[in-house]
Amino acid sequence: MNPSIIREILKLTERPDVISLAGGLPSPDAFPVEALREASARVLRDTPREALQYAASEGHGPLRDWVAGELRGLGLVVDPGQVLITTGSQQGLDLVGKVLIDAGSRVAVETPTYLGALQAFAPQEPVFAAVPGDDGGPAPEALDAVADARFLYLLPNFQNPSGRCLDEARRAALAGAAERLGLPLLEDDPYGALWYDAPPPPPLAARWPEGTVYLGSFSKVLAPGLRLGYVVAPAPLYPKLLQAKQAADLHTPGFNQRLVHEVLRDGLLATHLPGVRDRYRQQRDAMAAALARHLPAGCRWQRPSGGMFFWVTLPEGLDTLALLPAAVARGVAYVPGEPFHAGTPQRNTLRLSFVTASAERIERGIAAIGAVVREALAD
Ligand code: PMP
Repeated sequence: MNPSIIREILKLTERPDVISLAGGLPSPDAFPVEALREASARVLRDTPREALQYAASEGHGPLRDWVAGELRGLGLVVDPGQVLITTGSQQGLDLVGKVLIDAGSRVAVETPTYLGALQAFAPQEPVFAAVPGDDGGPAPEALDAVADARFLYLLPNFQNPSGRCLDEARRAALAGAAERLGLPLLEDDPYGALWYDAPPPPPLAARWPEGTVYLGSFSKVLAPGLRLGYVVAPAPLYPKLLQAKQAADLHTPGFNQRLVHEVLRDGLLATHLPGVRDRYRQQRDAMAAALARHLPAGCRWQRPSGGMFFWVTLPEGLDTLALLPAAVARGVAYVPGEPFHAGTPQRNTLRLSFVTASAERIERGIAAIGAVVREALAD
């Protein structure tokens, strides 16, 4: 495990005078505070002793049932016995890593990919194999070269960091190739419900359920501080993940599970999510407009159709890690793209979050980034 230079630099961004487009923090204004306050009082009134007691490692039964039902709506037929409630989907990554990786075994990843997954797998000492691809995602024909990997880690919906969503054809081709090769898939899907144009196609797990482990999260649809996520595993793998969960922390906090089940049972998502989508759609549009206005020619990005991030490629030769102090000095922060690459890093990339800052701060922040890039190009 290595400390992150980027975290050190980003500590500076906690200053109120810095507009942070760096962290992937959901907007606190989008948290369903009132619903959680009321549900919390109900849990403590109706089942206080159960909620405060040690509980089952698998998770709270009614919440597992709810997850299985929700996934059926996405085309994924799941038995509640395959659902393991975790302390965020980040714990799902940790548990899968512990169960499936041995030191020196290969793990296939997209490039770029979620930095937190690389960090979660790293203690098991895998050898990462970056799967090449294009703007549409990893190339299905590239999977032959990683057929011996323990699994392929994929983010089909509004990827962190690139924002891209795999289309129907790419999903079918990737799931087909993985099944043909017997290459297990680890599908991470914390952003699927945050679509702003149209819902994404069904998950890969719906196409090859026997070979896919699916990770979901309540962090982006309710609130990350609840630390609630889930793993859906093929039945033969489930007992090993459960053992790893027991060893890690016995179980996910029972109070939080009951609290969340309480609001889900009341149908909160159906009333809450449209407002979250509206808010984030406006912020995405604000960032798209600001990028078009302020970034000089030669910079490239795609407008994401969901999730939280823009991925920007600056002109060749610029290094976004080296430019970060100048950006912070001008009052804006982003995450340099380098650490999101398991293979050869593209140093001219950066990630911007559009969900935390207001449209007005996004505009000022992007103007400052534009100024830094122009200055660097003039050097
Ligand atoms: N996977 C991805 C792709 C993420 O972006 C995140 C959060 N940033 C996580 C997993 C972890 O989320 P949580 O533990 O809050 O569910």
